[in-house]
Amino acid sequence: MSQPDIKQYVFRKGAEKRIPVSGTFELTSRCNLSCKMCYVHMTKDEQSKVGQELTTQEWIALGREAVDAGMVYLLLTGGEPLLRPDFIEIYTSLIQMGLMITVNTNATLLTPEILECFQKYRPEKVNVTLYGMSEETYGDLCGNTRGFDAAIRGILRMKEAGLRVNLNTTFTQRNIADMDRIVAFAKEHHIPVRTAAYVFPPIRNQHTPDDTCLSPTEMGKAAARFDWLTLDAKQKNQRIAFIQKCLNNQPAELEQQSRISSCMAGRGAFWISWDGNMFPCGMLSDYSVNVRSLGFQNAWQETCRWVKDMVLPKECTSCKFQKLCPSCAAVSQTVNHATDQVVPDMCARTEAYIQTLLSF
Ligand code: SF4
Ligand code: SF4
Repeated sequence: MSQPDIKQYVFRKGAEKRIPVSGTFELTSRCNLSCKMCYVHMTKDEQSKVGQELTTQEWIALGREAVDAGMVYLLLTGGEPLLRPDFIEIYTSLIQMGLMITVNTNATLLTPEILECFQKYRPEKVNVTLYGMSEETYGDLCGNTRGFDAAIRGILRMKEAGLRVNLNTTFTQRNIADMDRIVAFAKEHHIPVRTAAYVFPPIRNQHTPDDTCLSPTEMGKAAARFDWLTLDAKQKNQRIAFIQKCLNNQPAELEQQSRISSCMAGRGAFWISWDGNMFPCGMLSDYSVNVRSLGFQNAWQETCRWVKDMVLPKECTSCKFQKLCPSCAAVSQTVNHATDQVVPDMCARTEAYIQTLLSF
């Protein structure tokens, strides 16, 4: 079995048996950038009004409890996780437990010490958020012009060190013009690049969203253009053929399944926020239990119970475009405060995605 097959197998078994095989530790909500579309970023002062970051020892103890409960894969994220002065201590303690660790970072704070640590204890991969291809874009969107050079330097140093690096990007009004250059940079350096299918509103900070986000139609068009730039010829043909099948309404051939049954959240996966709240996933943060007071195992059992009772919009479970649409329980919950209500903006986004791809 290849690595991806093994991972899929572990995920499937975890979800079947309600074993928390995949976890996310959100080490902080602080960040050295302040991206306008960020759903989590808080300053130290803002953080102190709502909670207290888990300590080094609390994260390490949680890691042990989670491993005992079955965790195999761990994502370390933020905010910006490299901002924590104890990042190396937390990372090395967790990886020595045998975990396959992925790190999400904006790459701007990569130090020689962290790089050396990654070379000695190799992460499964490092996901780097790249939000533009100029100082101007970083200044406008991320509030830090120097972020651009630092991000590029960090990405290239990790690539040169032989680490597996992936790029993640999110398109907004302030960086959509950089799309072609982001993709060109990724191709030049042979780095896989993905874009966020949906930009969540600031669900876990108090920042007011401004006019940065794309409209649903613009989001669909941007996703289609991004796919057209990144897919190879065979993949493009497959995508178009798939869309044609959907339009011709052949649900049996599309192997439709409820999104909840394909989602790991609260079935084999969990997320723990910087202040110790466990959620099924980072975007389903209305549902939370505190691991500080309950302990890992009890918090996991509670999380599984919530997800078991979740209901999805009936429009979505029977929708022929389901597999082309990024809507999910978390999107419905965020927009409608209920998982069973359809989000019309997502239908508009999917419609625009399909029409744009067919027009190429
Ligand atoms: S780099 Fe990531 S965590 Fe930091 S502000 Fe931007 S989106 Fe938020
Ligand atoms: S949000 Fe709309 S397009 Fe997406 S799966 Fe639901 S009904 Fe279909």
